[in-house]
Amino acid sequence: MSDNDIDPVSPRMAPKRKIPEVGGRPLKPSTLMMGHGFDPTLSEGSLKAPIFLTSTFAFPSAADGKRHFEGITGKRPGGADGLVYSRFNAPNQEILEDRLAVWDGAEEALSFSSGMTAIAVLLLAACKAGDVIVHSGPLYAASEGFIAKTMAKYGVTFIDFPAGADRAQIDEVMTKAKAMAEEQGGEVPMIYLESPGNPTNALVDIEAVREARDAHFDPDKCSIAIDNTFLGPLWQRPLDHGADLVVYSLTKYVGGHSDLVAGSVSGKKRFIDAIRMLRNTMGGICDPNTAWMLCRSLETVELRMQRAGENAEKVCDFLAKHPKVEGLGYLGMIKDARQQDIYDRHCLGAGSTFSLLLKGGEAECFRFLDALKIAKLAVSLGGTETLASHPASMTHLSVAEGRRAELGISDNLVRISIGIEDADDLIADFEQALEAV
Ligand SMILES: *Cc1c(COP(=O)(O)O)cnc(C)c1O
Repeated sequence: MSDNDIDPVSPRMAPKRKIPEVGGRPLKPSTLMMGHGFDPTLSEGSLKAPIFLTSTFAFPSAADGKRHFEGITGKRPGGADGLVYSRFNAPNQEILEDRLAVWDGAEEALSFSSGMTAIAVLLLAACKAGDVIVHSGPLYAASEGFIAKTMAKYGVTFIDFPAGADRAQIDEVMTKAKAMAEEQGGEVPMIYLESPGNPTNALVDIEAVREARDAHFDPDKCSIAIDNTFLGPLWQRPLDHGADLVVYSLTKYVGGHSDLVAGSVSGKKRFIDAIRMLRNTMGGICDPNTAWMLCRSLETVELRMQRAGENAEKVCDFLAKHPKVEGLGYLGMIKDARQQDIYDRHCLGAGSTFSLLLKGGEAECFRFLDALKIAKLAVSLGGTETLASHPASMTHLSVAEGRRAELGISDNLVRISIGIEDADDLIADFEQALEAV
């Protein structure tokens, strides 16, 4: 193992560790999650990383202190080469960031105190007044609101295309975006995607977006970012399909135990640099305790997601045949040829979050939800436990009725996130709850 090999050019708070190899074989993420980025000999031999509760770091000498600050402020290229202050970075967060980068095959990763902090800092770092953001729709409601309302206050506008759009439709929106930007004296600095969309599970063709971006804009100045919360890091690897940046709410599958809130951005260094600079200024990095919990979560993320995915497949097989079920929005049962084509090119698994359409409306959904004994009634997803909710009256209540219909959020739609319980127990629970409808 060459775990101590240091990458000398990476402008991070501390030098990044290279991915170790054994017998010429680069180690897989599931192996690396147990120790990558942490050297026990630097912490009294402690096998697991201690939680470093400190706001600041002692410099070996005044000259070292100066050197660190020259790196952080950009006076010297290459960034800081040691830890300085915990708003910039700290040991637990650096270990977490090294490990997050491994999963997505990213050059670098940054951790944040929530998914929304990651998204907000990402967008603020990319845009200036006059700019236009192109985004897929629908987005997570808070992301859509941040772009449409908060960014608008700073003179940034947006234009969107529907998640399932083909190359011609995407091209049309890119052309409009370019014209808007020219008129406003700005540029198009980012194409922001979310795939699959919530709650319809409509997939975005990342490869088509990349081709369209390359045709209309300078790929060095216009990044493609994607919220990969629903399928990452196991079931979709957007950087392999042309995305530059991947965003996560780590609160969901990565954290996976419904006991923390955090977020991240990983991807190409040339785009990460500006986000890191803004995070250094604003704060928003996750805290050491949360970073430690996330490192623990990452050791089992593959196991948990595999099991949840298998459970979801079994549960959906049962639900699809039930007479009280009108349909399922599950990526393992796509009915549309274009969506299936995107799935086949982009996805490695169908996930465990889907929509269940019951015959009836709100009353039937409420009877079903109230009868559940194992599945808990809560929003969020990707935890070890199965959750169910009613988007039309909960997460999407504030969305105008017309827009709700456009997004396919009908009154008979129940959103389900399958956990890692026993699949037959879950099926028994859904069976008795359907009985009560
Ligand atoms: C939950 C979620 C977010 C927001 O993340 P927080 O950690 O709650 O801030 C963003 N995008 C998607 C797709 C989500 O599911």
